[in-house]
Amino acid sequence: MHTILNLIDGRMVHAASCKLIPVVEPATGHPYAQASASDAADIESAAKAATRAFARWSVTPAAERSRCLLRLSELVDANIERLAEAESRDSGKPISLARAVDIPRAAANLRFFATGILHTAGEFHDFDGGGVPSGMPALNFTLRRPRGVAGCISPWNLPLYLFTWKIAPALAAGCTVIGKPSEVTPMTASLLGELAIEAGLPPGVLNIVHGTGPDAGAALVHHPEVTTITFTGSTHVGRWIGKTAGDMLKRVSLELGGKNPFIVFDDADFDGPHGAIETAARAAFSNQGQICLCGSRLLIHESVYDRVREGIVRHARSLRIGDPADPATQFGALVSEAHLAKVEGCVREAARSGGTILCGGERIAPVHLPDRCRGGYFFAPTVIEGLNPTCSVEQEEIFGPVVSLQRFQDEQEAVHLANSTPYGLAATIFTRDGSRAHRVAASIDAGIVWVNCWMVRDLRTPFGGMKQSGIGREGGVEALKFFTEAKNVCVRI
Ligand code: NAD
Repeated sequence: MHTILNLIDGRMVHAASCKLIPVVEPATGHPYAQASASDAADIESAAKAATRAFARWSVTPAAERSRCLLRLSELVDANIERLAEAESRDSGKPISLARAVDIPRAAANLRFFATGILHTAGEFHDFDGGGVPSGMPALNFTLRRPRGVAGCISPWNLPLYLFTWKIAPALAAGCTVIGKPSEVTPMTASLLGELAIEAGLPPGVLNIVHGTGPDAGAALVHHPEVTTITFTGSTHVGRWIGKTAGDMLKRVSLELGGKNPFIVFDDADFDGPHGAIETAARAAFSNQGQICLCGSRLLIHESVYDRVREGIVRHARSLRIGDPADPATQFGALVSEAHLAKVEGCVREAARSGGTILCGGERIAPVHLPDRCRGGYFFAPTVIEGLNPTCSVEQEEIFGPVVSLQRFQDEQEAVHLANSTPYGLAATIFTRDGSRAHRVAASIDAGIVWVNCWMVRDLRTPFGGMKQSGIGREGGVEALKFFTEAKNVCVRI
């Protein structure tokens, strides 16, 4: 069975304890690999290597850092098939999605920050003395210096996509990195580690330590040499990381859960691949609903409620569910037995709370699955209506293939419903009325609002959540600023 090792100081090594965690293939329910179960001892070795490497990497010319990251992005592109197969097997997502989205986006993340670092400019303030007797004219310029060793902690839903989204800006900015991928899906980060050696990243610049959150992750957050923590994952863990990092005065960015509204007004374009109905179905069920940006609450104007309800149910029923390794599969397995049980529990709770299950609502029976997948974690795409917006199912993130429907009478009620959860990550609005789109976009508590589209991502834009969905922004210059310290230099004229 394949053993996933840590990358520390440029070498692939076992965890100090030699302990291993089984890695299960969600489509079959069987372990197919084992990953290093690292702890504080491994984080200590990685921190030593990263601190040593920082002395040189932080002053390596940006053009050279850029070349290293570009070589890595080219290797990701060259290995797209191997990486896509590994991602699909490790996470249960359809291979078509891994090929079209996850792996190309991982390469794009590396390329984006590799080239972005060549185009940054400092800030400059020309001071006239401020009009006070003690003032004097001066020039101020702001230097940006890498902050040191960055801890990058990522989740299982978009494994390589989100891992590279964190490490690329950190490395481009001149930080060295200790990455901690999810223990549930460690495979592609481990393959990336091998490619990083091939790309010639100097030893210690990128370290990848596998292991559970409470062991490897918590040790990373606690380590005094790690000055900067970027975390994507659940709100529950994010809250603990925020507290711990706050105590130690570390800089922290938290990208957390969501309960995103998808609002359909009566004047929307409904039909076609980019119309409201197909887009809402994609937003609900892509990656089996395991994307933080999924539209899990479909808010529909009462006059078009029946039409949209019929459309979303039809789409949910038409999805080709099957072996994620089959290129024709559109909907694969949930990531783990525990997650399947959680999703199932939420649907039961919805039924107990008075919701009507319009389709799905249960595990896929083994007879409907290919032989290989009969022990896998498959749950049918599920549409629910009739829930009270204040019930726990409507308030808490499910993170599975479950969408609930609510009707609204007017714009004001739509905005009220949209803002009625503790989260504030993303929202989508479908309308042909431009003024209304602007008004509603401005009123919704969300870090990202899409109008007449979903999941369109320009990597230059600020990305992140409000309320319980997080603190801080990733993407573009926001990310490069996060990993650097501003130092103002004031020169008297
Ligand atoms: P999780 O919080 O359980 O784990 C995320 C990562 O944190 C994993 O690597 C895990 O090992 C690690 N971890 C767990 N406990 C830790 C601790 N005490 N200290 C340090 N690290 C620890 O989340 P998950 O189940 O892997 O991912 C699903 C969640 O991620 C969902 O809530 C989803 O909304 C969220 N998510 C958010 C975004 C975003 O951009 N806002 C993107 C993707 C996923």
